[in-house]
Amino acid sequence: MRLRALTFLALVFLSSPASAQRLPGGVAPDHYDLAFVVDLVHERFDGTETIRVTVAAPTTRIVLHALDIDFREVKIGAGATAQKATVTSDAAAQTATFTVARPIAAGKTEIHVRYGGTLNSQLRGFYISKTKVRKYAVTQFESTDARRAFPCFDEPAYKATFALTLTIDRGDIAISNGKVVSDAPGPAPTQHTMVFAPTPKMSSYLVAIAVGDFTCLDGAAEAVPIRICATPDKRDLGRIALESAQQILKFYNSYYSIKYPFGKLDVVAVPDFAAGAMENTAAIFYRETDLLADSKSAPADTRKKILAILAHEMAHQWFGDLVTMQWWDDIWLNEGFATWMANKPVDAGHRDWNVDVDEAEENQQALALDSLNATRPIHVDVETPAQIDEAFDAITYQKGAAVLRMVESFVGAETFRKGVNAYLQTHAYGNATSEDFWKALSAASGKPVERILPTFVNQPGVPLVSVSLACAGGGTSVTLRQERFFVDAGHNEAGRWQMPVCVKAPGQSQPACDMLDDASHTFTTPGTCSPWVFANAGARGYYRTAYSSELLRAMAPHVGTDLTATERLSLIDDEWALVRAGRHGAADYLTLAAGYGREHVSGVLDEVVRGLSFVHDYLTSGETRSRFEAFARTVFQAGYDEVGFTAARDDGDDRKALRATVVGAMGNLAHDADVTARARAAADRALSGGPALDSATAGVVLRLAASHGDARLFDALVASADRASDPDEHYRYLYALGAFDDPALIARGLELATTPQLRSQDAAIYLAQFFANPDARSTALSFVADHWPALEPKVKVFGGDTTLVSAMGGFCDPASRDRIKSFFAAHPLPAAARTLDQTLERIDNCIALREKQTATVGTWLANR
Ligand SMILES: [Zn+2]
Repeated sequence: MRLRALTFLALVFLSSPASAQRLPGGVAPDHYDLAFVVDLVHERFDGTETIRVTVAAPTTRIVLHALDIDFREVKIGAGATAQKATVTSDAAAQTATFTVARPIAAGKTEIHVRYGGTLNSQLRGFYISKTKVRKYAVTQFESTDARRAFPCFDEPAYKATFALTLTIDRGDIAISNGKVVSDAPGPAPTQHTMVFAPTPKMSSYLVAIAVGDFTCLDGAAEAVPIRICATPDKRDLGRIALESAQQILKFYNSYYSIKYPFGKLDVVAVPDFAAGAMENTAAIFYRETDLLADSKSAPADTRKKILAILAHEMAHQWFGDLVTMQWWDDIWLNEGFATWMANKPVDAGHRDWNVDVDEAEENQQALALDSLNATRPIHVDVETPAQIDEAFDAITYQKGAAVLRMVESFVGAETFRKGVNAYLQTHAYGNATSEDFWKALSAASGKPVERILPTFVNQPGVPLVSVSLACAGGGTSVTLRQERFFVDAGHNEAGRWQMPVCVKAPGQSQPACDMLDDASHTFTTPGTCSPWVFANAGARGYYRTAYSSELLRAMAPHVGTDLTATERLSLIDDEWALVRAGRHGAADYLTLAAGYGREHVSGVLDEVVRGLSFVHDYLTSGETRSRFEAFARTVFQAGYDEVGFTAARDDGDDRKALRATVVGAMGNLAHDADVTARARAAADRALSGGPALDSATAGVVLRLAASHGDARLFDALVASADRASDPDEHYRYLYALGAFDDPALIARGLELATTPQLRSQDAAIYLAQFFANPDARSTALSFVADHWPALEPKVKVFGGDTTLVSAMGGFCDPASRDRIKSFFAAHPLPAAARTLDQTLERIDNCIALREKQTATVGTWLANR
């Protein structure tokens, strides 16, 4: 029980205007005719709407969602019998009630609405987006913002068909879910009117409109026309995306038993976009940096990002758009699935990209969040728009995907595919729940998926599997015990999971898999008695593993040869988590980490660097820090000598990525003056028009240069960010501004956050760079507090609030913790309420760890 968290939640709840915005039911939409006249100059629109509905029982009132809608006329009924309705709007509930004099009979009827609205600047609903030269009108409706563009039954279960007509300026185009069926001049001489084909049955949050001078690259796959669209200056940066989209469509058409069902696919890069991308049916909208890049210079990680995000959004065309969760409490059925699925086409196209390591890293993100007391189950009750928004977190995405991977690995990929396709066939154009999914999987596999999944979906937290060994009858007797794992050792709430555990022993070709469904379980692996086993083969299980020191010592010499990359990653991260939880000592972790110096897979080494960075930043100071830096040099020097600072012509993608990790480690952890000087020189050359930085290491090099940089470098970064047309390059320069250690430059960098130069979509991510920098963290907190009126509207876009609040989890002292707590008590962010609890818990964990382990680290370093 944590009174503090409960008290705080209650405060936030009271200040939130909206409690339950669910519709009363009794009336359901069948079809919407929607006509918009878009006025970019005055940033507004007019709407004419007809909704064909089915009424369950006679009534004189219909309640639907509407927000910031200026009603002009509402009529209910068809033809001569239509009657005028009075409108009562409830801004808190985000609804409008239409009341008529004579009862509406049960059965089919029509609702006619004429209304107006503003193209807002909040990046939600129907909103305005601007470049230096002109304006665009764009929609973003997920989760609950279709109601800002047209009155509607704005819940995912109310599926209907939508037919759109758009009247826009001559010279502009409109993109929507359907194909264009006609385009005619008028009604005014300066306008033209585009009519779109009706959509299949879908949820209101998937309706999409984009208006402006977008220009597109055309392609096709499997007879489906595909376009990648952007502002005219950026059209040619869509080539990687077009090639990716074609490859992904082919892959999905062969994976799914239902071929791509929506006729065409448009993908649009929008200048202002709060989320990364949005899977609107057949009209996916994007922030530019996640879709566009120069096909001549983009590094592998940019290509991978574009391919992976597109694969995610395109997976949603099936998971989300074709079959939709019944209610937002099952949003993981959309997001967990799309996250899990997206890796498949990426891996199929690029076997050398170590996608399995990315998956293991995704698991780690989920495990880290899920080990907090302030976590939540995947399936979670949500009612308000703020609660729904906050459900888009690592539990929904990464834990959802991790749990699916575990079950896929357990039943076999082909069986899993059959279950997935049975589920899609049954619920196509409809809605489904978690239960529907695990029933389909159990039926397809004949395995107890119905018992496994609920323990991971309906219950919060991470299982910890402790492993012990004994020799028995020539084989190895393995005893597994499960309990719930918390970072904060003060918590010991029980948890019981039904989980497949796969154990790998030296010399065995196949792991031995068993179900762990009791508190403990013993089984015998065949063959000779093993001195060690690895109890998460392939790192496919969603759990942490604890070995005794003795077992770890037996395993350590074999880590590099007998464990796969994903297993090495999960081993080092589990050890670090056990240190964080006070179960193992930091000394054991440092000993294990020292053995990873020659790790050749960048994703694995990244995790080692992450753990060591924490030790560097929080558990050392003064003389101990110098010792730590000398230790870091011994770990990374050989790798650095091997890959070097400068890229070679024939370097593969992973070698380039490895170089970025090693250069960062040498600069930041070993404080190598030569590496930092080389970074500064390379940055200076590139920024003054000399040879461009190698794109794989550019981000690391710029941040290293900035970490000891001066005003000349700062000015050059600002100018280059402004000049860059390639989004990747722009953000690399912009975000390096958060890495300076000079207080005057930190202040200048922060000031930029309040200027119109920094788009709302980027504000929280930009500020997060300063919170990630130990030299800037405190100043950044004061800055946010002092400039809140200017920052709040920029941060309160989708995902901005949670990004900012989680970035504050880098503090490690009681004063900052109390400051953050009291600041957000006075300035609540309702869509980041749980995130705030998690941030405060992280800070508390860090404070406790620092007290407990600083001396141990000092001793280990002195005796090394
Ligand atoms: Zn998604």
